[in-house]
Amino acid sequence: MKCGSRLLTATPTTIFTVISALAARFEAINLGQGFPDTEGPADIVRAAADGLLDQRNQYPPLAGLPELRRAVADCNRRFYGIEIDPEGEVVVTSGATEAVTACLIALIDPGDEVVLIEPLYDTYLPVVRMLGGIPRLVRLLEPDWALPRGELAAAFGPRTKAILLNTPMNPTGKVFTEDELDAIAALLVRHDAYAICDEVYEHLVFAPHRHVPLMTRPGMRERCLRIGSAGKSFALTGWKVGYVTAPAPLADLVMKAHQNLTFTTPPNLQRAVAFGLAREAAFFDVRAADLARKCRLLSEGLRAIGFAVLESSGSYFVIADFRPLGFAGDALAFCQHITEHAGVAAIPVSAFYDGPEPPRHLVRFAFCKSEAVLREAIARLRALLLERHAAD
Ligand code: PMP
Ligand code: GLN
Repeated sequence: MKCGSRLLTATPTTIFTVISALAARFEAINLGQGFPDTEGPADIVRAAADGLLDQRNQYPPLAGLPELRRAVADCNRRFYGIEIDPEGEVVVTSGATEAVTACLIALIDPGDEVVLIEPLYDTYLPVVRMLGGIPRLVRLLEPDWALPRGELAAAFGPRTKAILLNTPMNPTGKVFTEDELDAIAALLVRHDAYAICDEVYEHLVFAPHRHVPLMTRPGMRERCLRIGSAGKSFALTGWKVGYVTAPAPLADLVMKAHQNLTFTTPPNLQRAVAFGLAREAAFFDVRAADLARKCRLLSEGLRAIGFAVLESSGSYFVIADFRPLGFAGDALAFCQHITEHAGVAAIPVSAFYDGPEPPRHLVRFAFCKSEAVLREAIARLRALLLERHAAD
């Protein structure tokens, strides 16, 4: 019999699913896959429940419900001063995952080059390759994850169609600086290229850091496709409601990609997300501040145990270097070890690399959990390390 797709045959099951299965097997606290352990805001969940009962359960419009497109456009103006036409410049998708794929489909022809930044989110590369695009990888280096300007410039060329930029960044928690954004903007103009801006963590940034969309920088309004996720903004990751903001000609192509992927997104969830996006700025600030506290709690706890913990400025994640603990194995082995023996799961950062020699000493912990759970995870890791020292 003929085989299925060679590319997908060679693509492993996502590390998030692998580690979540391992965590379930050992009944571990799952600080691997990034999802909160508490319910999102009750009024938004209620709006979704009410939305199921109001006789509007048939296909919504292809580009998304008008009220959600208006809410997305309003947010662009309120938070960033970007004027958006809700009619022609917003497309609602089934999660940011679909949005990233739809934007790549909208831009890429076989042979086009796409600049990607390592460490990178796990869907980017397979999708670029499925489309026949040619990835050009640029690697950020720990511990500060600064953008290497020379290497970035060298990755651009006459065949560059787009860069895929994730800020705030998973897994590093890096928030790109305005200076870095301007360096990217200059290259986009010089090479007449676009940016797909994965900004799913836009509202999860820790003061004094601030999220600045590339789309707000000079000359970038017409070159950016900006992606948000209700799952992330409202801690409702299972909802899978995403939205793309892009200039009309590009939004039209994203919409055509969406029509061939999922066509529409559940209408009750769209209405609830429209309700949530209309919340006042303080609502988002309080949630970010709460997450910042959890980030501090976990980072300090891990540091006290002996990890070297890198700074996270946003997202759900913090990265820790386990070398000071004296573990003789790579990051995957370390994650398997702590899941099985401490009952705490984490993600090996090496899973976010495709190029040679990924860092093998870094693991990513999710802190989007209740404080009691984070404290218990720290206590479990401390107990495991004390046990190991006693055995030495
Ligand atoms: N991009 C990044 C960087 C993410 O971390 C996630 C989280 N899953 C997504 C995209 C996908 O978001 P969604 O759940 O809305 O599909
Ligand atoms: N974005 C989430 C993470 O980085 C996982 C989403 C998924 O499992 N696909 O943990």
